[in-house]
Amino acid sequence: DLIAPPDVTKPRYVRVNTLKMDVDSAMLELRKQFVVKKDDLVPDLLILPPGSDLHDYPLVMNGSLFLQGKASSMVAAALAPKPGWKVLDACSAPGNKTVHLAALMKGTGRILACELNKERVKRLEDTIRLSSASNIEVLHGDFLNLDPKDPAYSEVCAILLDPSCSGSGTAAERLDYLLPSHAAGHAADITDVERLNKLAAFQKKALAHALSFPAVERVVYSTCSINQIENEDVIKSVLPVAESYGFRLATPFAQWNRRGLPVFEGSEHLLRTDLVEDKEGFFIALFVRENVDNLGNS
Ligand code: SAM
Repeated sequence: DLIAPPDVTKPRYVRVNTLKMDVDSAMLELRKQFVVKKDDLVPDLLILPPGSDLHDYPLVMNGSLFLQGKASSMVAAALAPKPGWKVLDACSAPGNKTVHLAALMKGTGRILACELNKERVKRLEDTIRLSSASNIEVLHGDFLNLDPKDPAYSEVCAILLDPSCSGSGTAAERLDYLLPSHAAGHAADITDVERLNKLAAFQKKALAHALSFPAVERVVYSTCSINQIENEDVIKSVLPVAESYGFRLATPFAQWNRRGLPVFEGSEHLLRTDLVEDKEGFFIALFVRENVDNLGNS
């Protein structure tokens, strides 16, 4: 296994779990040891100097703070669930975004957290326990098998879809390219293309499925990939279906200036973070629809 060298230029982001602690108290405590400021974009996100070691910091160990990067923290914030809503996290382990949703909803309403992989369900449950959220129900199974017509989902009004992706926007995945099998060439290239095609096929299916839930008003789609095939291409291919359901693309974090690659009309609504400039390559798309009651869905 490759171990990522410490990135001395990347700020350390921590998200305050407001279910357990308020932001001002967290800052007061952290300032005893670190220089801390608030992020200007994501509420409850704090920035510490690069190299700040928080792995055994008591507030991290007890779930008052989560070590969560800026781009990752932008996803649940883009969905902006309201307290009291019923929200579905379609692909949820290890659960960082699930418990972020719980905090944004102030511990009220209901979150359904779906996860296919049994081992990862355990990690999800650990994260939920650590966060102290009490309104999350774990569904162990395939999101694609959840029936949108099932009354259990008739009140789901927002879905967070963060499906399996290539991870090409994260440091660990970039290090893979140092492995001889990747450097060697052709065989690895074909495997990579096949893998990307498979991932993209799943991502499109999962996104179309998310958009088919009858009461859903907001769907956020995110990846930690820099590949157009997992990002803009997925959105472009699902857009006609989305529009047929009454959805349009909205602009998450309109003040953020890195947007989608200009490969279709409307891609300026999409959000990208840059592998070099932002130190990680994430992608976020937000679908919204108004007047869901007038659509005649049954
Ligand atoms: N949102 C998570 C977080 O922020 O902590 C990370 C999610 S990770 C990118 C994708 C997850 O989706 C993996 O845990 C994977 O096992 C799960 N997954 C893949 N296919 C799935 C499916 N068909 N239904 C439900 N979960 C699935």
